[in-house]
Amino acid sequence: MPISQTKCPKSDIVVTTLGTGTPVYNPLRCSQSILVEAGNFFLLFDTGRGTAQRLIQAGIAPAQIDRLFFTHYHSDHTVGFADFWLGSWLPAGGGRSKPLKVAGPTGVQALIDGHRIAFADDIRMRVVDQKLPLKGAHIEVASHSDCGVLLNQSGLKVTSFETFHGKFIKPNWGYRIDYAGRSIVIGGDSNNDRSVAKIATDADLFFHSVGAADESLLKFPEIAGILQHHTTPQQAGEIFSIASPKIAALIHIVTPSRPGFPTVRLEDIKARTEEFYKGSIIIAEDLMRFEIGDDINIIAPNKTSYGLQIVSTTQAGP
Ligand SMILES: [Zn+2]
Ligand SMILES: [Zn+2]
Repeated sequence: MPISQTKCPKSDIVVTTLGTGTPVYNPLRCSQSILVEAGNFFLLFDTGRGTAQRLIQAGIAPAQIDRLFFTHYHSDHTVGFADFWLGSWLPAGGGRSKPLKVAGPTGVQALIDGHRIAFADDIRMRVVDQKLPLKGAHIEVASHSDCGVLLNQSGLKVTSFETFHGKFIKPNWGYRIDYAGRSIVIGGDSNNDRSVAKIATDADLFFHSVGAADESLLKFPEIAGILQHHTTPQQAGEIFSIASPKIAALIHIVTPSRPGFPTVRLEDIKARTEEFYKGSIIIAEDLMRFEIGDDINIIAPNKTSYGLQIVSTTQAGP
């Protein structure tokens, strides 16, 4: 699949990978967050580190996001929430005036309640001092103990599904988004869960996480432990083969290492995955844009804008 620089004339769904990384600090890869634009909806899946910054870089004001869905509660999927939520309320983030809708598996209520407590003073001060509308800081939480259809409106359907990430890492969900006959599957973090392949069968775009380390590192229990929570490149290739999506994309690539030991390269992970999947594989990057219509157009990010771009903070307040 060639990666172009030009925009598709007609697309039904546009997906932008805001954060494609892991908990590891990397200015080129924020942690997990994916933006899906379909019809009049702007949906966000996870808010890892740097989510709000990447939204601005993608040309989307944080206040434009209608709904947020969490996959699970590992910090690399949640730590950007406060910045995204409160930033979207400020004029510089678009000045949200209506409540933000947040959904996720059990645990989302506690996550949001904790944020409300932590930032109560900020909200109180900005309401009295800057006259920001209190309603814009409100959050409507939908906590789900079971997965299934979470949104079905105006032709847009968002369905959650359970995936296996680890014995103690529960609940853990992925998402399928359907709109105008197009489908996106966000596999979430998972460890060789073949049920995801079934859900992603014939999807237009299928994101799957992967993890790998140099063989010399596998003797270290902490590295072996991390890899036990993720899908190997071979397994990812097999899952892509079963699903046979139009576009297969690797995201959230976990490459644990130690000083003095080789780090496995992304190209090697891709090549290893390709040994088990005959279609082409994309390695998702921050701010990569997938335009999905009759054709699928993948637009490479402009890397010169990474990290150091100054965004106007007019009226941002203290
Ligand atoms: Zn995780
Ligand atoms: Zn993760």
